[in-house]
Amino acid sequence: VFDLLKRIDEYTWEIPREYKPFMRVPGRIYVSRKMLNDVEKQTIDQVANVASLPGIQKYSMAMPDAHLGYGFPIGGVAAFDSEEGVISPGGVGFDINCGVRLIRTDLHVDDVRPVIRELIKKLFEAVPSGLGSKSRLRASDSELDDAFVHGSRWAVEAGYGVEADIEHCEGSGFIEGADPSKVSAKARKRGKPQLGTLGSGNHFLEVQYVDNIYDNDAASVFGLEEGQVTIMVHCGSRGAGHQICTDHLRVLSQSVKNYGISIPDKQLACAPATSTEAQDYFKAMACAANYAWANRQIITHWTREVFEQVFGRDAESLGMDLVYDVAHNVAKLEEHIIDGRKKKVYVHRKGATRAFPPGHSEVPRKYRDIGQPVLLPGSMGSASFVLHGTQEGMDLTFGSACHGSGRAMSRKQAKGTYSGEDVKKKLEKMGIYVEAMSPAVIAEEAPEVYKKSSDVVDVVHELGIARKVARVLPMGVAKG
Ligand code: 5GP
Ligand code: MN
Ligand code: MN
Repeated sequence: VFDLLKRIDEYTWEIPREYKPFMRVPGRIYVSRKMLNDVEKQTIDQVANVASLPGIQKYSMAMPDAHLGYGFPIGGVAAFDSEEGVISPGGVGFDINCGVRLIRTDLHVDDVRPVIRELIKKLFEAVPSGLGSKSRLRASDSELDDAFVHGSRWAVEAGYGVEADIEHCEGSGFIEGADPSKVSAKARKRGKPQLGTLGSGNHFLEVQYVDNIYDNDAASVFGLEEGQVTIMVHCGSRGAGHQICTDHLRVLSQSVKNYGISIPDKQLACAPATSTEAQDYFKAMACAANYAWANRQIITHWTREVFEQVFGRDAESLGMDLVYDVAHNVAKLEEHIIDGRKKKVYVHRKGATRAFPPGHSEVPRKYRDIGQPVLLPGSMGSASFVLHGTQEGMDLTFGSACHGSGRAMSRKQAKGTYSGEDVKKKLEKMGIYVEAMSPAVIAEEAPEVYKKSSDVVDVVHELGIARKVARVLPMGVAKG
């Protein structure tokens, strides 16, 4: 396979259309030569498979954190013509609008070090976590509908946050066109008690500090400075999103046959973008995406409450503003310039972050001269990064970047390799305090199971699809 890849430049590897007869466009993998060796053949095949789908534009792409996923690779980006193309749930993933947000504070790392254990323990109590965990919030059916339709706005209006939080979310924390009537009773039943929960394993609530600034101007616009404490929240749409994906995959598996679309992998189930089946999925997917924004907003509120308790000051005086919130599992109808022409496309980002350039109307006014903040988590034992979007990214990758470091080792293998207790102790020696549901979770999430975050981020930065602003290091983590 690797002999087949065509090197375009230092960080761009092309899978030529000759690789598989069904490819409508080439594939592109954005990695360094060193990292290319770690990309599995199966991942490359998935990139090629996606290139077979009708209406795909430019390239089927894989970000530097790419690895095997359901049908589409995680770290995959693909855009389909809004008229001639398709919509595919596999291009979004099961945890619809899994995403990350970053909250700043006026606290200094030295203010927080002495109380980090207390802080993490309290956060772990305040935000329910674990696979089947239930929320402290008892959402009614009509509140669930409001969360499905209005996302962040609903949460803020229900008392979980402030107006500025809404503006500092990708797309103001909602996707238009959500229709709760396309969400099954089962998905509602799973989602209702989980609104306001973190979820399991990979999801986390982390207290960090800024340890390096790469771009002073951008950092100051984002409200970031060296030594400052930040908080990162990573979670998604819980059982609601998972069930919505499952339900609509079943329908679209049939649509593929009905519309005579030939796919090289069953997991690429899809339907023509304009069909009722695809639109119904999109309307339900939007509900899950909005639910996830509401979810992260509720968690933000409880996080602020914990900080207020521990520091005896209100969140406003602690400077706990939301810097930004990005989705990394979602399909969106966007306008892009392709071959010199404006075109509406459904951009599928799966384990990939939107990264819009300076001047774009969807970038909050406050950040418009800089570009959209891009948040790239590392692991509970390594650096995470804040970047900003660029015009190069808009031109090259439909305004997208990677979504983190990406897994290098499976959960199963990790559990066999690491002991949760040992990992916890090792992290404590590094000054990082971890609370988790079980030692097994800590083993599955050992820092070593992820690719090196700085390697991944450097590719993104050097390629120019997003540029480094700041680096943050973990101080304590509440793991789902
Ligand atoms: P995913 O959405 O693929 O589950 O995770 C996104 C990224 O989050 C992973 O690729 C990994 O780099 C990062 N990550 C996972 N666990 C943690 C954690 O505890 N802390 C931080 N800062 N990043 C993490
Ligand atoms: Mn995620
Ligand atoms: Mn997730």
